[in-house]
Amino acid sequence: MRNLIRALLALACVASAATPAAVSARDRRVYHVPVLMYHRIARAPADAVWPSLYVNPTKFAAQMAALDNAGWETITAAQLAAAVAAGDTIPKKTFVITFDDGTVDGYENALPILQEHGFVATFYVITHKVGREKYFSVEQVQALALAGMEIGNHTSLHVFDPLATRSETNALVRDAQDAIELWTGVRPTTFAYPYGYQSTNLIASVRSAGIQMAFTTHWGARETPDSALSLPRVRLGPWVTPERLVEILGYWR
Ligand SMILES: [Zn+2]
Repeated sequence: MRNLIRALLALACVASAATPAAVSARDRRVYHVPVLMYHRIARAPADAVWPSLYVNPTKFAAQMAALDNAGWETITAAQLAAAVAAGDTIPKKTFVITFDDGTVDGYENALPILQEHGFVATFYVITHKVGREKYFSVEQVQALALAGMEIGNHTSLHVFDPLATRSETNALVRDAQDAIELWTGVRPTTFAYPYGYQSTNLIASVRSAGIQMAFTTHWGARETPDSALSLPRVRLGPWVTPERLVEILGYWR
């Protein structure tokens, strides 16, 4: 019994000696920068399959104006990735705006509203869709990049197969990296999983492609270096009022 107590005491000493430093080091590396996730900034057509993915431009303008008025400022996902990797301090009231899929409304409707407020954003494009109807043209991708927006990787095909081999997932990620670099001169450092789905192979492909930060569609705002390839975002539907959005973001920052 005495030996057991001695052993427990020794463990407690080790724990108390190790814990404060370990916890504080880890705490410094936990960020809560809200990363907003949008898809379409357009009126939902009557036959929309996923009407909740649409935020109409008037509503989006009101959301951005409310955040601007409340003193919020943007960085791109790439800037967030670099700051988290370096352990840099990120100012309060900093947030990230992301748009998935690269549909033309991002250029026509979202970009002018972002620019009105001096905001930057990250557009996750599906590279094989670029140039197709309803999606960005190559020129629009280039114009977005020239306007200071980040063009991020959303794979080449936007498919998810949980059984895809590593060489298949490598191709999905690498083809999109190559295309975006060809169009903009910048190789992406951030990624959004199609449908938010992850597989071990896809995560490994993302890592080996040099991606620093990758987003799912899970809800939340918490970034750490260890979880940087599986980060949540704040999904915004048409039901979020501008006032509510300011409250939601204020919860974290
Ligand atoms: Zn998508």
